[in-house]
Formats: sequence, structure tokens, C-alpha cells
Amino acid sequence: MNSSFQEIGEIFARHESFVIMSHIRPDGDAIGSQLALGFSLLAMGKKVRLINEDGLPDNLAFLPGSERIETPPSEPLEVEVAIALDTAVKPRLGAGALHAASRAKVWVNIDHHKSNPGYGDFNHIDSGSPATGQILYKLLTALDMPFPEETRDSIYVAVSTDTGSFQYPSTTEETYLMAADLIRRGVDVGRINSLTYDNHPFRRVELMRALLNTLELAGGGRVAHWEMTQATYTSLGLKPEDSEGLIDIIRAIEGVTVALFFEELPGGKVRVSMRSKDPRVDACHVCMEFGGGGHALAAGIRMDGPLAEAKAKVIAAVERALPLS
Ligand code: AMP
Ligand code: MN
Ligand code: MN
Repeated sequence: MNSSFQEIGEIFARHESFVIMSHIRPDGDAIGSQLALGFSLLAMGKKVRLINEDGLPDNLAFLPGSERIETPPSEPLEVEVAIALDTAVKPRLGAGALHAASRAKVWVNIDHHKSNPGYGDFNHIDSGSPATGQILYKLLTALDMPFPEETRDSIYVAVSTDTGSFQYPSTTEETYLMAADLIRRGVDVGRINSLTYDNHPFRRVELMRALLNTLELAGGGRVAHWEMTQATYTSLGLKPEDSEGLIDIIRAIEGVTVALFFEELPGGKVRVSMRSKDPRVDACHVCMEFGGGGHALAAGIRMDGPLAEAKAKVIAAVERALPLS
């Protein structure tokens, strides 16, 4: 059962100290959502810590206020309220972040993943929303909370990155009206898009070259997949965020319904990113077969390796999920 914005607003009003977290391997919606809510609560005079298990990725360091994102301290924080944002299941906050938040008395869970089971004391899960950032925009404006420039810019980037620059089908009239309002409030569109999309390190393009050399089709041309081994990762000196969004290149292939990115992680686990272009193929559903989750058209898995075995299993499951015609 979803808590109303009013109920969540009462939690903000009744408490003084908050830890705000988001998922491991944070993307623009994760960090952007933490900053958006964090700076609004700070402007209300609250005590706020912004914790992410993996810290701030370099590609989001341009966001104003992002220096406040910290990796978890070793001792639990003395905070009243823990807030999880954009995180489908509690363990995806990371063990260190969970330990840091372990003294909190109240848990708030705000998210847009349809696989989110509602692990908070207060939950607001809106799987119709294209980004957690858009839920926060609605929450902050409905409650008439402060809207400093850190909040404004972070919400823009959160929604832009989760919608593939306002392109995916989850983008609605409400999303564009929100974007228009953010621009009215002062977002510098050219500058912020340039910092988000036209500012990649050279090694990311080298990764693209390496990935292209592994590109294959399956399912009679309807599945495209590529892989990143640990050897590629170390030889190019990559960072986790360097592969963010590259899957869109193979998702865009004509005739491809499902795109898959396989990443070998240190320790032998495999991370899978899955994108579907056809609503009849529910990526979240396929990923849940392997303990993963996400959205209908964008989902992921963390599973046991070795890489070749994980690939074979996931590709077979995707082929089974393809519609007959
Ligand atoms: P990614 O491919 O990492 O960009 O993830 C696509 C979407 O699926 C994001 O919204 C993720 O939060 C979600 N997701 C990725 N991996 C998992 C997982 N192991 N469990 C649940 N949700 C996931
Ligand atoms: Mn996310
Ligand atoms: Mn998201």
C-alpha cells in the first residue's frame, strides 16, 4: 500500500535527522534523487547525510552539491529516518549503507521499479513514473517544499538519464511539463545536457571498440548482445560507470527486440543489463527468473558466473520470451 505524499510530508516534518541512500552502481536517477530530496530537506533546516555504497561516480560529479555524496561510514549513523530512493530491493543499497542506516527508526522507500516489494515502513512505489526523480518532483511540489538549484538540476538529470533523454515510452506529457517547469526555474538545458552526454572520458570510447568486437546476434536477429570481460576492464583502466548507457547502441539495431550487456565482475559474478523494445517482452519478468528485477523495458541481474554459462542461460531465457511472430 502506497503512503500518500501528505503522510511522507508528516515524516519529514516530525523528524530532524535523515540518511538518504540509493542503489549500488548508482546511475543518474539514483544520485540525482538523493541530491534532489537531500537539498530540499537541508533547505528546511534538517540534518541530512547522503550515503551511497559505491560513492559518487565521476560522470555525475558535475551535479551541484554532489560532493555531499559519501561512502558509508564504518559506524552506524545516529539518524531517525532512513530513506531509500530508486532501489528495487533493500540489499541493493549495499551492506555498508545498510549498516550505516541500522539505527534509523523509520524507513521510507520511494521508487519506480515495479519489482519493488515495499520494504519500507512507508512506501511510495509508482511504476508508472519514468524516474524516481519525477516522483520526487511531484512530492516536493505537492508539499510545497524548498526547491534549491541543486534539487532542480538533479531532478532534470535524474529524469533525463532514466528516459534516454526524454525518449523512452515511459516519457509522458507530465514529464515534459515537469521539464518545462524546471527550465522555467532556471535549468540551463544546453549546459546540463552537454555535461551529461558530451563529456565522456576517452576510455569509454575504447570500451565501445572492445564491446563491438564481441557483438553477436541471437534469436534470429532479434537479440543483440555483447560482453565486457575483467581483462578488458583492467587493460583499459575502466571505472564502473564507463559502460553506462552503451547498451542503447545495440538496442537501436533494426529488427532487434532485446539487447543484452554481460559484464564479468571481480570475484566471478556476472552483471547483466537487459533492454526490451517490445512491450510483449517483459525484461523485468525475464530478469526475475534469475533473481534480478527492474522495469518492463529495462532490467538487470547479478548472477553467478562463469560468464559463458550466464550468457547461455540468459540468452536462452530471452529467446523463450520472444513473441512467436
Ligand atoms: P541497468 O541495466 O543496470 O541500467 O539496470 C536497468 C534497471 O534495472 C535499473 O532500473 C536498475 O535499477 C534495475 N536493476 C538492475 N539490476 C537489478 C537487480 N539485480 N535487481 C533489481 N533491479 C535491477
Ligand atoms: Mn537507477
Ligand atoms: Mn530509476
